[in-house]
Amino acid sequence: MSTTHPSAPSLRQTEAASRRALLDITSYDVSLDLAADAETFGSVTEIRFESRGGPTFVDLKPERVISLRFNDTPLDPDLLERGRLPLETLAGANVLRVEAVMPFRNDGEGLHRSVDPADGRHYVYGMSFMDAAPSVFACFDQPDLKAPYTFHVRAPEDWTVIGNAPGDQVEPGVWEFAPTQPLSTYFVTIVAGPYHVLRDEHDGIPLGLSARASLARELERDADELFTMTGQCFDEFHRRFGIRYPFGDYHQAFVPEFNAGAMENPGCVTFRDPYLFPSRVTRSARVVRATTVAHEMAHQWFGNIVTPKWWDDLWLNESFAEYLGNRVTAEATQYDDAMTHLSYQRRQWGLSADMQSSTHPVAGNGADDAMSALQDFDGISYTKGASILRQVNATIGDDAFFAGAIDHFTRHRFGNATMHDLFASWADQGAGDLSPFTGEWLRTAGPDAIELDRGAGLLRRTPPPEHPADRPHRFRVAQADGGQWRSVDVTLVGPETPYDAADDVIVIDPDEDSWGVYVPDEVTMTGLVTLLPEVKDEALRAGIWNNVRSGFHHGAVAPAAVVDLLVASLPVEDTADSARHLMPWVLNWVLPAAPAGSLERVHAAALAKLTECAAGSELQLSAFRAAVHTCADPAALRGWLDRMPEGLELDVDLRWRLLVRLATLGSSDRAELDAALADEPTGQSRVEHTRAVASLPTAEAKAFAWERFLGAVDVPNYELEAAGRGMWRGGQESLTEEYAERYFAELPGTAETHSGWVLGVATEVFFPTTAVRPAILDRARAVLDLPELDHTVRRRLSDCADDLRRRLAIREAFPIR
Ligand SMILES: [Zn+2]
Repeated sequence: MSTTHPSAPSLRQTEAASRRALLDITSYDVSLDLAADAETFGSVTEIRFESRGGPTFVDLKPERVISLRFNDTPLDPDLLERGRLPLETLAGANVLRVEAVMPFRNDGEGLHRSVDPADGRHYVYGMSFMDAAPSVFACFDQPDLKAPYTFHVRAPEDWTVIGNAPGDQVEPGVWEFAPTQPLSTYFVTIVAGPYHVLRDEHDGIPLGLSARASLARELERDADELFTMTGQCFDEFHRRFGIRYPFGDYHQAFVPEFNAGAMENPGCVTFRDPYLFPSRVTRSARVVRATTVAHEMAHQWFGNIVTPKWWDDLWLNESFAEYLGNRVTAEATQYDDAMTHLSYQRRQWGLSADMQSSTHPVAGNGADDAMSALQDFDGISYTKGASILRQVNATIGDDAFFAGAIDHFTRHRFGNATMHDLFASWADQGAGDLSPFTGEWLRTAGPDAIELDRGAGLLRRTPPPEHPADRPHRFRVAQADGGQWRSVDVTLVGPETPYDAADDVIVIDPDEDSWGVYVPDEVTMTGLVTLLPEVKDEALRAGIWNNVRSGFHHGAVAPAAVVDLLVASLPVEDTADSARHLMPWVLNWVLPAAPAGSLERVHAAALAKLTECAAGSELQLSAFRAAVHTCADPAALRGWLDRMPEGLELDVDLRWRLLVRLATLGSSDRAELDAALADEPTGQSRVEHTRAVASLPTAEAKAFAWERFLGAVDVPNYELEAAGRGMWRGGQESLTEEYAERYFAELPGTAETHSGWVLGVATEVFFPTTAVRPAILDRARAVLDLPELDHTVRRRLSDCADDLRRRLAIREAFPIR
């Protein structure tokens, strides 16, 4: 992984403001030559802009500059320094022409180029977020200098090229695109390669889908579902917003090795292509994909028609897309249970982030520069923000909520705005003064812990000690007397509120009306062992598990009590497939902290489920996965490899799950894993092969993973992540011990070889999670004290250290006997 300008300074908010005050961009004309070679591409940019006259700079991160011309005068390429080219602008019209050679990247940013191991074909996509656009074309790279773009692309003749605006192949290998609407630099993209493309139309909007050739079958199979729900979401967004989608075509490109879930580029949304499923999946995987589709569509209005002026309001983009994407999925598509899935999938993500020492208010964090804003781009920005918007909606009602949004889109169409503009639009549309609410919820950090004091007959609300706050909560409590559940409305104002739970089981806020760490007490945990298996209400089940997970991370629920609950009611029991979201937590957090014999008990419960589920059902598939991941018997795993239970097929996903588990137990070897890869050499197989090899309990395997961490062996981003996830396995401590020390010694240097998203992932997945000792926490703190530590590394390491602190606290509270 490399970037050509690791030392380019991050744009400061003050620099962005003065550049915005100086310039108005008239147009970009960009010509890319992707046909030259596999390492670099040609990039010619002509920027026309108006200036008030004076010095500024354009952003440019090339491999090398060919020529620079500014207002008909050549500029010396040596003027370019650390990604910035200084310009002395004239008052009035200016023209800058930059001809450069740019690097293809392979870290999922800039213009990413990859080779599909299945067939050796090359694929390219652009990811300009958050500061990668200048490694594709010269630009004034900040969200509030929007302009229309006209693209011209030369590509190999068997490639298809898709961009933000409709385009045509005018002669073999030559593509011309229409001018776009005004766009921010961060969502300008090109998708190019021998992609398999499908087209449709809905309500006058041309729709497209694409995937690499080796995933053509999967794309064809799901195209109906994707086109249908895209149409349904368009109808619903048009109905809600009263403003039509304005960016022409709507293409959804599934691209290789994409870091995030998706990116909302107008007219050409990019998705990670594991969202196309070569193997059988459960409904929850489809729901995750569906909500992602709707989330990116919501961004076409919130983010793309109106864009945050500066990165500190990025949370609002994400919170809005998260809230409305989920809601529209549930209300307009076949996935009417989307909200339940999200309870399992997203809420703990936000709560965990909010419980870290790196927690921050949802809004108003300032963000002096783009990089520091990026550090706050986390579960708080998405899930907590969405939870707060849901509270706003509940307070002001749909009419004012959507009228305010429409007012906002109309006032700032194709421009930029701030959070204050949105709240002003809401106030204008009858929402009243929301400032007390924003003060209480948007400008304070950390979640309140809410727990029942049964003896005193009250609910106690405790803000995090480092972040004092006085937040009111309104929610419902599900209370069970025997098997009878009833709902109790509760308003918490002040630290203590009377609540009579008698001896009943209570579940706090299963409807997610508020936001907090809800802690079940022992009476509730014990009672749930009997009650949970009988609960049929999916939202309540999700609420129960969220209470249990929050309480566990809060150090108040014993790992053994969680295991008892798992054994009583293993979370594979409904088609909502809670297993998909709960099992990773069970494996990574609960079992390592639970008493001896817990793995075996959970495995036995999984086997029991597997036997009782109907052959071919999703429940069976979930139960089987849970059984594989908890299996300690290589013979049983080998037995399944030879012969699967009736109703299950040994597809690529299940085959690798079995092989990874065998490798972890030391019952496979490199030769077997290599043979499995050679047998089916797809992109997914390569990733799983890496995970399996890194999981082997051998010195060579750990060295294999480590070379990837250090960048000594350069691999695509998904393989790097898989290597880290395989590296640390319980029971292999004698092999990995030396790496626990090496991690801290060598981590700071990885910023030289990895960057951006990948650097953050590497920091996290290679953290020694199995070395749960206070001395490791001390080592982490010592590295965090290094003044020159990279920002991304610092933030991720700080979060990993917090996780370790939590693991230690749980072990201290509930020692493993
Ligand atoms: Zn988003």
